[in-house]
Amino acid sequence: MRTKSILLAGNWKMNHGPADTAKFLEAIEVKEKPNAKMRLYVPYLSLQAALESVENRLLPIEIGAQNVHFEKSGAFTGEISAPMLKEVGITQALIGHSERRQYFNETNDTVLKRTVFALSQGMEVLLCIGETLAERQANRTEAVLEEQLVQILAQPDCLSAFGTKLHIAYEPVWAIGTGVVATPEQAEAAHAFIRGLLAKKLPSDQVNATRILYGGSVSPSNFAELLKCPNIDGGLVGGASLKLDSWTQLWGLL
Ligand code: PEP
Repeated sequence: MRTKSILLAGNWKMNHGPADTAKFLEAIEVKEKPNAKMRLYVPYLSLQAALESVENRLLPIEIGAQNVHFEKSGAFTGEISAPMLKEVGITQALIGHSERRQYFNETNDTVLKRTVFALSQGMEVLLCIGETLAERQANRTEAVLEEQLVQILAQPDCLSAFGTKLHIAYEPVWAIGTGVVATPEQAEAAHAFIRGLLAKKLPSDQVNATRILYGGSVSPSNFAELLKCPNIDGGLVGGASLKLDSWTQLWGLL
């Protein structure tokens, strides 16, 4: 039986600038939980405001970035590097979110490069994968998840980081921001499949220690059922992480 270490992670996307971020984090009340962590992936521009509030109020909340580049520095207009994030105290990054793949041409190759470099810089990565509706309807869910992980699972630095610095978020694209949540059965099947892929390459303690979060229209009304699934180790939450009441309700369910 795995002991779960739950992560409730919010992805604010392009919402909450520094002033809103400070307001949110000045108002939030978070009780520490023995086996659960809270994390917020906020816009780059809001990172420092978030860190300041968390530090001032001693809040048990980790702050992370929504992406990170695969080079240290250079001619990459509009990008942010791992050393820059670390300079302001950020060591958590989300990589490969489907919106990055869909709107900004992120591919499995660039996701791999970003992940390898971030890990080399000592950052912790939450790697996002998931199938589109068309892929699910064509019965390609497992094939797509495998395609999205195959290079990561062939990379020694990624392999050794699973369970400590590298974790996964399974986010079916058809469930993100749509209000259509995967059923616990659908989510558990995908999570079990992903864990099975890890098990082909890694010892069981590392497989068990790797968090696989579910993301896609998580709300206070569906989270408890999802969390009962043996392979679901928490949630990556967009819309419901933006408002204090829904976000703290989710935390209250843990
Ligand atoms: C997300 O942004 O990763 C996400 C899952 O969004 P939502 O919860 O709004 O579907």
